[in-house]
Amino acid sequence: MTRAHNFCAGPCVLPESVLAEIGSEMVEYGSSGMSVIEMSHRSADYEAIHHDAIERLRRLSGAPDEFEILLLQGGATLQFAMIPQNIVPAGQRAGYVMSGSWATKAYADAALITDAYQAWAPTDDGPARMPRPGEVTIEADTAYLHVTTNETIGGIRMPELAGFGAPLVADMSSEYLARPIDWSHYDVVYGGAQKNLGPAGLAIVFIRRPLLERTGDHVPSYLRYPVHAAADSLANTPPTFPIWAMSKVLAWVEELGGVPAMEKRAAERSGLVYDAIERSGGFYRSPVDAACRSHTNVVFRAGTEEQEKAFLAEAETNQLLNLKGHRSVGGIRASIYNGLPTESVETLVAFMADFAARQG
Ligand SMILES: *Cc1c(COP(=O)(O)O)cnc(C)c1O
Repeated sequence: MTRAHNFCAGPCVLPESVLAEIGSEMVEYGSSGMSVIEMSHRSADYEAIHHDAIERLRRLSGAPDEFEILLLQGGATLQFAMIPQNIVPAGQRAGYVMSGSWATKAYADAALITDAYQAWAPTDDGPARMPRPGEVTIEADTAYLHVTTNETIGGIRMPELAGFGAPLVADMSSEYLARPIDWSHYDVVYGGAQKNLGPAGLAIVFIRRPLLERTGDHVPSYLRYPVHAAADSLANTPPTFPIWAMSKVLAWVEELGGVPAMEKRAAERSGLVYDAIERSGGFYRSPVDAACRSHTNVVFRAGTEEQEKAFLAEAETNQLLNLKGHRSVGGIRASIYNGLPTESVETLVAFMADFAARQG
C-alpha cells in the first residue's frame, strides 16, 4: 500500500499513525464487545472519549475557564447562522471583514438574521490581502467583529488579530491548532474539524460563557448554544466517530509539542513552497500580498493556463494529489495541514523546481 501526497483542502490528510490506531480499534474498542461507532453515546466508554476530546481541546488551545467548548454538527457553515442568531442582542449589529469566499458566506447568512454590515472590503486590484486593524470601521452598537483568520480558498491569512476595537468572532477552520489564540480578543472562535483536526462532521465552538445568556426564546433547540453547553455537547446524539478520531489527532498534536510546534511547522513548511515560488524567476506567482500569505493553504499560478494544466496532470502521475485550486478561483493550491508528512512538502517542492526547469 502507498499513501499519496494528499494536499486536499478538506477533508484533510490525517496522520497515518492515527489511522492505523483507529483501524486496530475499529472492530472492538477495548473490551467493550463493539466499535465506538456502534455504542451508546450515554455509555461510560463513549463518555470517556467525549470528555477526553474536550479536555485535550482545552489544554491545546489554552482556552481559559470562561470559555465553553462545544462539539456540534453542521460544520463551520451552520455557525454562520448560529452565531448571529444567538449572540447579537436586540438593537445591536455585527461587523464583517469581507476577506474572501468564506467571509462572504458568513456575512450573507448573518444578514438574513441580524443587522450585519461590512466593516472592511478590498477596494483595489492589488494582491489579495487582509486589512490592518486601523482600516476596519467599527460602527456604533457593534456586538462583534467577524474575521476569517485564514481564507482557505484565497490562501490569505490575517497577520494581526489585535486592536480592532470590538470583540472578535473568528472562523479559524483552516488553521485551527496551527496558530495560537490570544483569548483576550475573542468572544467566539469556531471552525470545522476537517481542515486540521479530524474527519468531517464536526464543528468546534469556543464561546465566552456570559454570551450563553443572550439567546432569545424563539431559537429552536439544536440552534441554541445554552442547550449544548448545559449538556456538555450531549444534548442529542453527537457525531461519535469524528469526535473519537479527533481525540486521537489531538493526542498526536500534543506529542509533537502542541500548538507552538504546529505553528512553527506550518510557517516552515509553507515557507518551503513560497521559497520555491520566489526562486522560479516568475514562472510561479503568488496572487497574495507577501505579509498575508497563508501558512496552511498555499495558492499559486504556474506559467500559462496550458502549463498549469500540465502541472496538475504531471503532479497527479507523481502521486501529488488534490493540488487544483478551488473551482471559483482556479490555479494551484497546496493545503499543508498538521497531518501532512513533511516529506510530501519536500516532494512537491522538488517537483515544482523540476517542472519549472523543463517548462520555464
Ligand atoms: C471549509 C471552511 C468552512 C466551511 O466548513 P464546513 O465544515 O464545510 O461547513 C468555513 N470557513 C472556512 C474558513 C473554511 O475553510
